[in-house]
Amino acid sequence: MAFYNFSSVYSNPKGSPIRALYKHLSEPGMISFAGGYPDPQLFDVEGLRQASERAFDNSKACLEYGATDGTPRLKDEIVRLMHARGVSAQPENIIVTTGSQQAFDLILRVMVEKGDRVLVEQPTYSTNIQAVHAYQASVQSVPVTADGLDVLELERLLSSASVSGQLPKLLYTIPNFSNPSGATMTRERRIRLLQLAVQYQLLLVEDDPYGGLRFKGDAVPSLMALASEVPGAQDWVVHLSSLSKIVAPGLRVGWAVAPVEILRRCSVAKQSADVGSSPWTQNIAAEYLSGGRLEKHLSHICAAYGAKCRALADGLRRELGEELAFHEPSGGMFIWARLTGAVTASELLQQAIARGVMFVPGEGFQVDAADPFSLRLSFATPTLDEVATGTRRLGEALADTQARKSPQTLLA
Ligand code: PMP
Repeated sequence: MAFYNFSSVYSNPKGSPIRALYKHLSEPGMISFAGGYPDPQLFDVEGLRQASERAFDNSKACLEYGATDGTPRLKDEIVRLMHARGVSAQPENIIVTTGSQQAFDLILRVMVEKGDRVLVEQPTYSTNIQAVHAYQASVQSVPVTADGLDVLELERLLSSASVSGQLPKLLYTIPNFSNPSGATMTRERRIRLLQLAVQYQLLLVEDDPYGGLRFKGDAVPSLMALASEVPGAQDWVVHLSSLSKIVAPGLRVGWAVAPVEILRRCSVAKQSADVGSSPWTQNIAAEYLSGGRLEKHLSHICAAYGAKCRALADGLRRELGEELAFHEPSGGMFIWARLTGAVTASELLQQAIARGVMFVPGEGFQVDAADPFSLRLSFATPTLDEVATGTRRLGEALADTQARKSPQTLLA
């Protein structure tokens, strides 16, 4: 039937593991731990309404085309936000993008050629596995532990790649409350990673949409902030961030902070991608950030996400006990877990959907030797009551699945 002559990359594309579950979301009473969206109940609607009205006072600036790399006012606000996060960026180091998703795509566009080696974490954000495949890179993974990227494993990989003359060009990492692993890279590992980047001329793409959502413990400085402590490292870090998780994804406001040489090329690439991100929502974002509500808003949403995370972790421990292993994250939106028995995540999901609860099997987040027992649960959108009911249903679904599996398989 395929009479269109599609490009090889899109002739048979794999969809997102989450989108495949959308059809079940509308089933009556379904409780979803599957999504990755922020809780709409937590949006600062009033603050954004006021910011929107102030922005529209200068209607021409909202409705006309804007600069490809972002409106000067928003870039100034991003400079201030990045300074507060320990990064001394200047406006010329910043490009505003249509979500941080676009920032990653632009970086790949200007850096990666067919056949180039690109490293990602295992597990990692599934959409960006697709993004790397779209540029026909050869993708390889480095494992993540509870302390973030396994830098010893990375070092081994880089040292043998350098012997064979096949060094990777770029490494994509999500150091804070990763999607999907929930893990945060320790400061020691970050410093080691920066040293390796300098030694092997490896561009680190640090994706940090969740860093603002810390609900316990102390913040670890970003790779970009720590780069000033490692000689030469500032040339090897690109930092991506976004307002999607801390303000609202509907703004579609993200950004990259990077060396000027890289950004200049991203700006050319962005011209043909979308001419520029919407000046209207950039102006709303600038008004919101300058209005001084972000700090209070953040403490409100972090407390709410923290409570939901605790409720999910407690519920999982109560209802599934030893059958499910996981580390409780200190921020973000996700718990990454592993079934310890003979039941796989996909098998559990079938029964879970029948019981009215959903999660995402972990295989779609992995590029090498995917673990069929892993799964991702998001605590962001369900209410505390739904978390309690949802975890109870999960426990029942696991019992159903175990009962359905033949005794022979259970012993395997
Ligand atoms: N990176 C990660 C790790 C994400 O989880 C997401 C959103 N799910 C994005 C990037 C994209 O976010 P944005 O809305 O800023 O494009």
